[in-house]
Order: sequence, then structure tokens, then C-alpha cells
Amino acid sequence: MIKSVAVLTSGGDAPGMNAAIRAVVRTGIKKGLKTFVVYEGYKGLYEGNIVEVDRNFVSDIINRGGTIINSARLPEFKEEEVRKVAVEQLRKHNIDALVVIGGDGSYMGAKRLTEMGIATIGLPGTIDNDIASTDYTIGFDTALNTICDCVDKIRDTNASHLRCTFIEVMGNHCGDLALFSGLAEGVEMVITPDHPISKDEIIERLKQLKFGFKKHALIVVSEKMFPDIYDLAKEVQVRTGFEVRAERLGHLQRGGKPSAFDRILATRCGVKAVELLLEGKSGVCVGMRKNEIVYYDIMDALKMKRDIHHELIKMLGLVNR
Ligand code: ADP
Repeated sequence: MIKSVAVLTSGGDAPGMNAAIRAVVRTGIKKGLKTFVVYEGYKGLYEGNIVEVDRNFVSDIINRGGTIINSARLPEFKEEEVRKVAVEQLRKHNIDALVVIGGDGSYMGAKRLTEMGIATIGLPGTIDNDIASTDYTIGFDTALNTICDCVDKIRDTNASHLRCTFIEVMGNHCGDLALFSGLAEGVEMVITPDHPISKDEIIERLKQLKFGFKKHALIVVSEKMFPDIYDLAKEVQVRTGFEVRAERLGHLQRGGKPSAFDRILATRCGVKAVELLLEGKSGVCVGMRKNEIVYYDIMDALKMKRDIHHELIKMLGLVNR
């Protein structure tokens, strides 16, 4: 039976990570465990940046964006020698279990630690919704709402000046932020890895709009769909006669206080992680399926294919143009 648990956040930060940290620490303490935080993800683990915390440490953070224990990337964590040092650091503090909040890459690190004798559980923390083993990742809902706020504002000026604006959103090869925000905003076009639209087709559709009933347009694009969204805007302007702008929303999508949905998802996942550790589970990741909190072996989870939202993509053709 484990006697202590540590928690760390890894990879890109996401709103709701703090709520997950809070849930792990509070549940751990309630169940009689010593609780620790590791600052700066696997980097801090390697460097021994580990602190024992009480329940007050996580007071007033459920509503805060980012991660109060910082996040980092440490590519060298793939090397066994580096991980051995990290395991040593945990042993020094008599820590026998670890909760890792992050994405797929962080899950791999968690799996490797499990193989080295540390009971480790992964929680899905990323705005991108690119983890196949959960319907929603912690942070996705907040980022989606942030994007919608931005698009609302861009819409006002875009419509006033009868422009076309491309809005590039994050997603890391997952089109969910673009698809969901595009539907929620009723934009003219949504371009994602699961729903690509060629440059020529974009231009054709814009020409129809320009000479049709609507003289302005919003287009939401997933990152990495075009080499440079600003170059695309220039070319489309020349070829359509529209005044065209491009906005890359960038890191503002990661910020802000977490939505109620993300706080609750994070809390459910954090509580479940500690419960699983107390049941002797390790090397698994927690997620949500059909509103139930579930868990899978990390290797099985990493092999899963993400759902393509065919129903939502079909809707674009019915209601967005
Ligand atoms: P995310 O967790 O959001 O997918 P990354 O892919 O950047 O973000 O991974 C975060 C960290 O997880 C990396 O910096 C590295 O420390 C660790 N990691 C990634 N892949 C592996 C791996 N194959 N083995 C061990 N650790 C890994």
C-alpha cells in the first residue's frame, strides 16, 4: 500500500491543471497519504525540485489558470539514465506514487516510471483535446470558450469593414478546437486535419460570398494546416478582391481561469487518480467517456485512435454555409 503521493504538471500548460493538483493533494491527505508537489514537470523531478505540501498549499487555486507548480519539457527524460536520477529523487523523499498531468508525451514518461517501480497515473491535461483515451481533456472547454470570445470580437470589426478574416487556432494535429469553435460561432469555413479545404476551394467559395448575399466571412483554421496564415491571407486577398486579414490567436488560448466544466473534470480525474493508486493500480491514465470517469493501461491508451466527429463535420455543411 502506498504511503505518499506526488503530483507534477508536464508539457503545455492548460486551464484546470490547478484544480487537478488540488484534487490530488486534498484526496491524498484525506486518505492519510503524505503529499508532495514536483515543480517544473520531469525537469524538476530530475533536479529534485520536490516539496511536501499540506491542504492549504492548494487553497484558492481551483479558479486559477496555468499551473502553480510550473510545467516544462525535458526531452532527455526518454533516456533511462536520466529517469534513474528522477527515481532516486523520489526515493530520497520516500515517495512511492506519482500523478502526472499532461499529454501523450507525458503519459510515456509516466509509463516508463511505472516500469522502474514508481506507481504512476496519467491525467489528461492539454487544451488540444488530442488524447484519444478521453472524450475531453482538462483545459479544452476553457480554451474553446476563449476562442469563441475572440471570434465574437473579431466578428464585429470584420463585419463592419466587410472583410474576410482567417483565425488560426491551436490543436496540435487535432481539429477539435477549430471544429467546435467554428460550429459555436457559425463561421463560413472550418479547416481542420479531418476537414481540409484546398486553397482553390477557399477562393472559389469566397468569390461566391463576395458576389452573393454575404459580403464578409470568418474562417477558422487549425494550426499547421497552412505553412503561413499571413501569406495565405495576402494571396486570398489578391485572388478574391476581399480585404483579407489573418489572426493567429496563439498563447492567449492557453490562459484564463478554467471553466466550471474543466474544474469539475479536473477534480473528478484527480480524485480518481488517488483512488486508483490506493487500489494498487499503476501505469494507467484517467479520462472521461460518456460522462463516466474511466481508466486505461497507458500503452493501450496511446494506441487508440481519436474520434473523428463526423456528425459535427456534416453539420457544417448544413448550417454554416
Ligand atoms: P505532452 O505531454 O503535452 O504531449 P510533450 O510531448 O512535450 O508534451 O511531452 C512532455 C514531456 O514528457 C517531455 O518533455 C518529456 O520529458 C516526456 N516524454 C515525452 N516522451 C517521452 C518518452 N517517450 N519517454 C519518456 N518521457 C517522455
